Amino acid sequence: MKDEVVKTKREEPVQIKVSDLSVIYKDTKGEAGTTALSHVNLDIKRGEFISLVGPSGCGKTTLLRVIADLIPKTSGEVFVGGLTPRQARLAKQFGIVFQSPVLMDWRTIRRNICLPMELMKIPKAERTKKVDEMLEIVGLKDFGYHYPRELSGGMQQRVGIARALALDPPILLMDEPFSALDEFTKESLHEDLLRIWRQTHKTIIFVTHSLQEAVFLSDRVIVFSPHPGRVTSIVDVDIPRPRSLETKNDPHFTELVAKVRSGFEGV
Ligand code: ADP
Ligand code: MG
Repeated sequence: MKDEVVKTKREEPVQIKVSDLSVIYKDTKGEAGTTALSHVNLDIKRGEFISLVGPSGCGKTTLLRVIADLIPKTSGEVFVGGLTPRQARLAKQFGIVFQSPVLMDWRTIRRNICLPMELMKIPKAERTKKVDEMLEIVGLKDFGYHYPRELSGGMQQRVGIARALALDPPILLMDEPFSALDEFTKESLHEDLLRIWRQTHKTIIFVTHSLQEAVFLSDRVIVFSPHPGRVTSIVDVDIPRPRSLETKNDPHFTELVAKVRSGFEGV
């Protein structure tokens, strides 16, 4: 069973291809300043759950931003489903979940989830149906008519996930989405995120500085070193799915966390 799961993923086509990518931020005078990423290579397969881990400042957010077409690359190539990041953005290939969900206080939860669909001028009947489906999938069925201030941090982050999934993009980019949450809330979101991933077949790139979180969620963990940010190791997580809180008591889980950690020590 375990082998089967691993084999299926290996046969999937590459969905995101990063080749020899470097990103140098310009300083205030417009001259080359910080090298945020240096010669990064990465192939992500369709349906994979990938985590990017590394200390603060190693370029995780920069990589996500280049893939999402929020900032330009300096050199190298990035393709998303065979498209450039710009084309992929216009084709609504990805949804983004940030550390803070940035909800609109004056809109109900339903209308917050609706926003991307309104911008895309999707007909009302279709929007309503999709919002019902999204509320169900993130476990907030009874909160659609509440306002963001009435929800806990974890529930607000669920709304952020629902909004990112509303247009049904094949890729979900998540930048430290759970770092501001307490451990208990985080654990239940981990299990729910894996369920959502299983149900929706998305490709997920998940940024975190927590090694445990990365190993628990992912098929592969990409380890980055800072200054300049580059990939130092890639760890395959061969823990069977579905995973549960019990997984964290498994000695193999601890071994894999240590293996990811040694990726930093090798720097
Ligand atoms: P991480 O997400 O891993 O913490 P970032 O991608 O945010 O790392 O940053 C990588 C490096 O690039 C850091 O040294 C940071 O200071 C620098 N950096 C990030 N954004 C900018 C920016 N807009 N202008 C200049 N330097 C930046
Ligand atoms: Mg960051």
